[in-house]
Amino acid sequence: MKNIRPLRFWSYIPEILVLASVRDHGSMCFSDRDIGKVNRKRFVKEFLPSGSKLVMAKVVHGDEIKIATWKSPEIVENVDALLTVEKNLFVAVTYADCFPLILYGSAMRIVMICHIGYKGLIRKLPVIAVKKMMAYGSSRKDTRALIGPGICRNCYEFGHEGLFVRRGYSDYICRNGNKYHVDIEGIIEYQLIAEAGLGRNNVSNSNICTFERQDLFSARREKFPFENIQAGMMLVGMPDAYQKELIFERNLNLNFNLKIAPRHA
Ligand SMILES: [Zn+2]
Repeated sequence: MKNIRPLRFWSYIPEILVLASVRDHGSMCFSDRDIGKVNRKRFVKEFLPSGSKLVMAKVVHGDEIKIATWKSPEIVENVDALLTVEKNLFVAVTYADCFPLILYGSAMRIVMICHIGYKGLIRKLPVIAVKKMMAYGSSRKDTRALIGPGICRNCYEFGHEGLFVRRGYSDYICRNGNKYHVDIEGIIEYQLIAEAGLGRNNVSNSNICTFERQDLFSARREKFPFENIQAGMMLVGMPDAYQKELIFERNLNLNFNLKIAPRHA
């Protein structure tokens, strides 16, 4: 585990810490007996400020958002998004080819993490998530969004393209021989900007494809056993001022490098 760095995002926003585990950190899943539990614990110890608490969503491809607090259990069942305003509380989702979506409202210091696959998109979870941020006092102006690593449109063959065509997203479907591909991250962006009203400059994309990056878990590349590969972890939280300095130190020591894969033309 030592020397293996998580991916770090939004490092230029000093008051929050956004990390994604990589394959070498091991499976973070819930169904893999104790392995996920051990790996999660190790990751928290190694990469989060001491005294942090991790709260994980046990995702179900739905659209429910729950508020996480220090009183929350370590695992929140049946939920695809967690919101918190509490410091040193790290909310997380597991994923393998789905997308983690992170929202941050800087004025009210609200962070949210969502797990978004095609079912979440059909339920418009990105739009619901932005509305929830507004309900908690964020404005569209101070809310920014980050689309984390997930499967890109070139790699994502999808057999139910009609689901998206019927809902007006045909621009995000393309045909490759007799297969269809769906641009999930493109639809997330569209929902955030065109449907939820965020500014284009407030939405960023990691442009990292889990299928192409061998150091990340990919459900479609690895196929079986499925439980073992629902294993990436994306987490976000607000460290308090004292811990923030420690994080900077850690970052320097760890020399976090984010390699950004080029987006396909
Ligand atoms: Zn790809």
